[in-house]
Amino acid sequence: MRVPISVIHICETLRDAGHEAWLVGGAVRDALLGRDAHDWDIATDAHPRTITEGDLFPRVIETGIQHGTVTVLIDGEGYEVTTFRGDGDYSDGRRPDSVRFLNTIEEDLARRDFTVNAIAYDPLRDVYADPYGGRKDLSIKVIRAVGNPLQRFSEDGLRVLRAARFAATLGFNIECNTMAAIRPSLGTYAQVAVERIQAEWLKAMAAPEPSRAFRVMAETGILGVTVPEFELMFGCSQNKYHAYDVWEHTLRVLDACPVGDPILRLGALFHDVGKPLVKAPHPVTGDGTFYDHEVVGAEVTETILNRLKFSTEDRDRIVHLVRHHFIRYEKGWSKATIRRWVRRVGLENVAPLCTLARADIAGKGPAMMELEPEIIDELESRIATMQVTEVMPTSTKVLVINGKDVMDHLGIPPGPGVGKVLAALLEAVTDDPEANTRERLLDLASKVSIEV
Ligand code: ATP
Ligand code: MG
Repeated sequence: MRVPISVIHICETLRDAGHEAWLVGGAVRDALLGRDAHDWDIATDAHPRTITEGDLFPRVIETGIQHGTVTVLIDGEGYEVTTFRGDGDYSDGRRPDSVRFLNTIEEDLARRDFTVNAIAYDPLRDVYADPYGGRKDLSIKVIRAVGNPLQRFSEDGLRVLRAARFAATLGFNIECNTMAAIRPSLGTYAQVAVERIQAEWLKAMAAPEPSRAFRVMAETGILGVTVPEFELMFGCSQNKYHAYDVWEHTLRVLDACPVGDPILRLGALFHDVGKPLVKAPHPVTGDGTFYDHEVVGAEVTETILNRLKFSTEDRDRIVHLVRHHFIRYEKGWSKATIRRWVRRVGLENVAPLCTLARADIAGKGPAMMELEPEIIDELESRIATMQVTEVMPTSTKVLVINGKDVMDHLGIPPGPGVGKVLAALLEAVTDDPEANTRERLLDLASKVSIEV
């Protein structure tokens, strides 16, 4: 196993002081899978006070000393060192009432959630402690609770969601007893703080196929607890343009969005949430119609993201993607129409919206692509070309005259009238960029001001 030199150094320092030092948790799991391992966690029998008060390490921060965790700083990099511990009783399904420090790594591994997360490695002796068969489960790609899944899920309700998330990030299946224990544990899951849920959702977005997590969440009822609004999408049939119901389509669009942009993927997850609410049969054909689903969907998305305590910035970006995901572009769009669309969605959102639109088309299913994804490529390339030849009229800031010019020229005082004139000038420049000269704009200002 390739272990960073600083981590080895910490282990050696602990050993030389007469203690044990084991690498545990996600980094060991990921390294065994041949993945990039980060956040190396070290478990030791040394008491936290021994680490902070002794002179073993030049810099130690008491990050979570009440839980036995301290952070050792080496070359500006932090490494978490945690004393072997077990959890006391869990009375609220959220956090242990107390922690106990223990003497052996085996006892420490017993408190961990899944077997693949309960493997310890001593890099100095090249020895594993793997009492729950974590390495075996890694090889057969299984998420299995350590010990009795019902009991483990009743201690901490977040674990059911972590199972779903790891199923996606690792591409594993959940062992059947572990899976069966999820539904009976939803009462405990319902107590989990939304901040922890949000963090797991964001981590799921980094999976090759985030849909794996959301399929588990849908099937076990986890999703219904957190976002009952989503359950309306299950089985919501669409129309002749779609092979799948709204939920299956959503999961396919989610996976079709590139990894690396979690906000875009969240936009995909929410993009059609409004559809079940506006579904109506076509008066003639009887096929499903979904008028204004993006408008209703944006409102629902905002409500849900507020409830999940997303940051204002993330929330606004996701809501914006939902609001504008439905691109009605056709070859017949004039340059002025394109300019208006760019102004409405914002230049910086053109690329993500086009990416989402291509994923949306791919998610309709084979042979259902009424619009070929190439139509979106065409829109994007027309915009790229226009950006080379003109300044896109995205706001009144691109006008060569400003509010003061308008006031001086028309002899009017500051007030809403000035903004109205500028807006009218922007409209004119959107239709004809050549109009963006001082002379023509002042001339236009005199004409529009009469109507204002
Ligand atoms: P990631 O790659 O997402 O960081 P991880 O396995 O490292 O995955 P962390 O949340 O960083 O997850 O936790 C580190 C280790 O602590 C886990 O591998 C697991 O052994 C243990 N652990 C974390 N959360 C829980 C929990 N809710 N219940 C039990 N054990 C947990
Ligand atoms: Mg980790």
